[in-house]
Amino acid sequence: MNDIGNSPSARDIESIIHPYTNLDVHRTKGPMIIDRGKGVMVWDDEGNEYIEGMAGLWCASFGFGEEALIDAAVEQMRKLPFYHQFGHKSSMPSIELAEKLLAIAPKGMSKVFFANSGSEANDSQVKLQWYVNNALGRPEKKKILSRIKGYHGVTIASASLTGLPANHAEFDLPIANIGHVDMAYPYRGMEPGETEEEYSTRLAELLEQRILEEGPETVAAFIAEPVCGAGGVLVPPAGYFPKIQAVLKKYDIMMIADEVICGFGRTGNMWGCETYDIEPDSVSCAKQLSSAYLPISGVMVNDRIHDAMIEQSKKIGTFAHGFTYSAHPVCAAVAVRTLELMEERRILEHVREVMPVMQRRLRKLGDHPLVGDVRGVGLVGAVELVADKATKRAFDPKKMVGANCSEFAVRHGLITRAMTDSLGFCPPLVITEAEINEMFDRFEKALDDTEHWVTKEGLR
Ligand code: PMP
Repeated sequence: MNDIGNSPSARDIESIIHPYTNLDVHRTKGPMIIDRGKGVMVWDDEGNEYIEGMAGLWCASFGFGEEALIDAAVEQMRKLPFYHQFGHKSSMPSIELAEKLLAIAPKGMSKVFFANSGSEANDSQVKLQWYVNNALGRPEKKKILSRIKGYHGVTIASASLTGLPANHAEFDLPIANIGHVDMAYPYRGMEPGETEEEYSTRLAELLEQRILEEGPETVAAFIAEPVCGAGGVLVPPAGYFPKIQAVLKKYDIMMIADEVICGFGRTGNMWGCETYDIEPDSVSCAKQLSSAYLPISGVMVNDRIHDAMIEQSKKIGTFAHGFTYSAHPVCAAVAVRTLELMEERRILEHVREVMPVMQRRLRKLGDHPLVGDVRGVGLVGAVELVADKATKRAFDPKKMVGANCSEFAVRHGLITRAMTDSLGFCPPLVITEAEINEMFDRFEKALDDTEHWVTKEGLR
């Protein structure tokens, strides 16, 4: 790909540090250059067509080329291309967006702070917890518990919340005051004979034990994704969040819901919090907030958090946090239009209509000899490939079975995402039933190719 002197591929290799890419391999493999998109399809620069089975990075809910969002951006760009929110300034798109967002927000959310990415939202969550506990006169209550395999971003604080080894060791993370507890991962976490409810009870007990070890007076908050996304699409077992929240309430620990993937219809409800009975004190959202057409994120908080912030401002003055691009008017205008389109086009109803097809086709993959586990809800799901279905033995991670499977999928015209050996599906919410079927038809071919390759290489 990269041997043609001044080709786009060669220019990419010579100039770009790619996020989440093996930088050494990239030097020979080069980039896949995506050139254009329409609906759930994208095309590379050689004209090959792909179903975008991940909506990019779990985000382009309206697919590609949605004219209504493009128009919203252009219109706002012409009127006021930039303004900020520092020192009491505001702009109409941000006011409209805040109202719209709070009107549909999980119960109790009363104010919103805008940022530009999921990472910034979660970084702000950490700072707000520290700020608020200072305000409440309990400066020792600062620890935030997150979950192993959870994904919350890559800035210093949000990467610390993230519970994946690759985000920690080589970056000297996590920072102090952030700890990790077990993920709810039924396929690998449940004991033989244990029910989902029993597993949830055990996880809640483990959380309580950890809180007691840390000292409840030192633990400020617990953060979780309703469905853990980048950790492998891990759907919580029955009763999990209510049991977890009962423990949190007992020790006056706040619940932060990271809705960066689940928010705006992904699980079949507006929020993952609704699907899984979560009553959050604060919520991070991003990605589908603007269908990813422009970067914008939000941290919504309840009155308890906001009242404490007001008290602190009375005492010390300015709330010294915020970004140049907080509530950027063009991003906010696109987000407003995205939320309008969700209503106008009845996206939630559409998701509920097509999600049984998605889940049925996913479940069917469970018959394949490589597939150890199938999980999903709404329009998100994953299959976990294993070397031995009976014992759940995983492949040697160095063999990159998941990554190879996703390469085979590309050859069949499907972009999916390998998370170690779990392959994720998170298509644009506007995907049709026929497109869902086509997506899985293509993936089944990739699975068969993977099976042949695994057998040929003797990887079992
Ligand atoms: N939280 C969750 C649940 C995410 O999935 C992601 C990104 N995949 C983030 C936070 C970080 O968002 P960003 O990449 O926009 O910083």
